[in-house]
Amino acid sequence: MLLEAGVGAFFPPEQRERFGVSEDRHVLLDGLAAEGVGPGDVDVVVLSHLHFDHAGGVLRAWEPDHPPELVFTDADYVVGRTAWDRAAAPTPRDRASFIAELPGLLEATGRVELVDGPTSSTLGDGYRFHTSDGHTPGLLLTEFDTGDGPVVYASDLVPGVPWVHVPITMGYDRFFELVVQEKAGFLADVAARGVTVVFTHDPDVAASTIRQDDRGRFVAEFSRP
Ligand SMILES: [Zn+2]
Repeated sequence: MLLEAGVGAFFPPEQRERFGVSEDRHVLLDGLAAEGVGPGDVDVVVLSHLHFDHAGGVLRAWEPDHPPELVFTDADYVVGRTAWDRAAAPTPRDRASFIAELPGLLEATGRVELVDGPTSSTLGDGYRFHTSDGHTPGLLLTEFDTGDGPVVYASDLVPGVPWVHVPITMGYDRFFELVVQEKAGFLADVAARGVTVVFTHDPDVAASTIRQDDRGRFVAEFSRP
């Protein structure tokens, strides 16, 4: 199962710079291969939302004169229904964040589960979702137990350590004040329960637990290697 597809390598070379993409290889596939996992071994892909930097990795690397194609040909795909609807009908402000062909390619597999609530029939017991609408409507944050404590994939609600400070938001967030409100509730919950938060956009810290300091501010409790 994959909880993050990343940006992948679907952009043509001339668009990489425009969208700030430095990778010229499909680093997700490279990473999986290093673990001995091939694309056909992936049975479920959870897409927290369909922004290109989180969902582009489900596409094969760009090749001249080849239309986009899914790389995980045998996988089921789990997406929040609201996030799906947003990708299918983006606004002028966020259209560039989506891959126009992706919903159609996913739909053609016949193996997309659109999630409305906190659980997924594809994933079954052991996984549950927090939802958030501030970054983009219908964001799914997947929580599961590792056997060594619970872990949540925070996606773009808390994309890295700087964003653990509640007032910090991103230019890509659609509804800033909602992000602030949702983060405060989410961080209070994970801090109280000792959940490890996985960050998607932090160049230095992969994951951390959260605590509140003496002033009531949330801080990441990671230990540097
Ligand atoms: Zn995003």
